[in-house]
Amino acid sequence: MFDVIVAGGGPTGLMLAAELRLHDVAVLVLEKRDEPTNESRGQGLHARSVEMMDQRGMLDRFLAVSEKFQVGGLFGGIMKPWPERLDTAHPYGVAAPQPVTERLLNERALELGTEIRRGHEVVGLRQDEDGVTVELADGTELRSRYLVGCDGGRSAVRKLIGVDFPGEPATVETLLGDMEVTADPETIAAVVEEVRKTQLRFGVTPGENGVCRIVVPADGVAEDRAAPTLDEFRKQLRAFAGTDFGVHSPRWLSRFGDATRQAERYRVGRVFLAGDAAHIHPPTGGQGLNLGIQDAFNLGWKLAAEVAGWAPEGLLDTYEAERHPAGRRVVENTRAQMTLLGTDAGATALRELFSKLMDFEEVNRYMTAMITAVDVRYELGEGHELLGLRMRDVALKRGRLYELMRGGRGLLLDQTGRLSVEGWADRVDHVVDVSEELDVPAVLLRPDGHVVWVGEDQQELHGRLGEWFGAATAG
Ligand SMILES: Cc1cc2nc3c(=O)[nH]c(=O)nc-3n(C[C@H](O)[C@H](O)[C@H](O)COP(=O)(O)OP(=O)(O)OC[C@H]3O[C@@H](n4cnc5c(N)ncnc54)[C@H](O)[C@@H]3O)c2cc1C
Repeated sequence: MFDVIVAGGGPTGLMLAAELRLHDVAVLVLEKRDEPTNESRGQGLHARSVEMMDQRGMLDRFLAVSEKFQVGGLFGGIMKPWPERLDTAHPYGVAAPQPVTERLLNERALELGTEIRRGHEVVGLRQDEDGVTVELADGTELRSRYLVGCDGGRSAVRKLIGVDFPGEPATVETLLGDMEVTADPETIAAVVEEVRKTQLRFGVTPGENGVCRIVVPADGVAEDRAAPTLDEFRKQLRAFAGTDFGVHSPRWLSRFGDATRQAERYRVGRVFLAGDAAHIHPPTGGQGLNLGIQDAFNLGWKLAAEVAGWAPEGLLDTYEAERHPAGRRVVENTRAQMTLLGTDAGATALRELFSKLMDFEEVNRYMTAMITAVDVRYELGEGHELLGLRMRDVALKRGRLYELMRGGRGLLLDQTGRLSVEGWADRVDHVVDVSEELDVPAVLLRPDGHVVWVGEDQQELHGRLGEWFGAATAG
């Protein structure tokens, strides 16, 4: 029997598996596809995900193969400079195409000892008091204590546990593909600039080896969701740009809609949902993959705590309580962005107004913090302004905070040297150090970097340790 089966080996499932393996959880990833995807859907990691990679020692691997980016236009394609004083020590994104992200996450999950079975599709499940029985397409049955559906927008797991997925169906569709072109770069740039004055769902972005990423509105919404043909691209390019740029030799062709939905619940008994299985929305702002791996970062240590037997009562329920609102915020901001991307007079006027508002530095910073998710705060009650927020990396006398979080454990950063985590030392690291960037006596961080306590009182600290890290061990 496995501790956890993860259905789906996309970015969310792989991130979750790695988080679980940090704590020796026996995890199995079941992935329907035989081979990893080459679809360049997600275009990169936003600042909060960059921070997570740093917290787990993965950032160097991303930076070895991808560029940092600091561009405006994250909200509704409204171009503004990168804001000053974003609350992060990593004020940039990393331009890693989705196949690169998946490759690096896959590599790490395997290094940490994850078992990944490709060509295995989950088609059925039933749960009882002790665990979940997972049925595969070939009839095999497997048992685990928990199951997490990371199986994408059309999640079989979500359907099998009967969770509703309310929201709106697609009203517009966009073609997206990687292919070669015969037109020269100057002509392409001039045409794209002209078309984008009125149509922001249009783009030709040169990539590696002469392959361009092409985005163009589709003609209506396809009933069968079949992959588009190259001729469909040609026709739509001519309709919007007056030329098809001589497209040829496609690498992959796809279509995506603006369907927007969120699962009503993220948990039913021993089964959880994360990533696109829990929420879908248009790719405006490039948030979906980021949101998914952030779900995984939240759930991983909690599930590991439950498996290890030290999770306090209700810890697993905080996953839905925290991540459902975080997902809702993204779903809502993509709805707002899609309205701004409209081509009618009202949308154009609204975009102009938003553009003016975003000239205020504070507004620009607010929007960027929202899209990059560095401002996500979990509702942990009244208290210090850091409470519930994830803490930014800070320099310490000896090293950096994030370097101390590689093991995915809780962490008490103690600038007083008078506090103790005795009784929890098997789950929580105690770091006595000081930082010129931190003006509080001590902070207690969860393994996902969110602040659950700020103060200097040992009794109070004991209360918080018990609340988040379970009962103290004797002696
Ligand atoms: C055009 C486009 C552009 C995008 N751009 C961005 C961007 O710039 N930034 C960003 O953050 N996000 C972006 N996204 C969103 C991003 O691609 C998704 O949010 C992300 O892939 C979600 O990851 P996931 O692991 O949750 O789901 P998926 O990537 O869908 O992975 C699910 C996995 O589960 C497998 N699976 C499905 N069913 C089963 C089953 N029954 N049994 C076993 N395995 C199963 C699938 O084969 C797949 O490998 C974009 C999306 C699109 C369409």
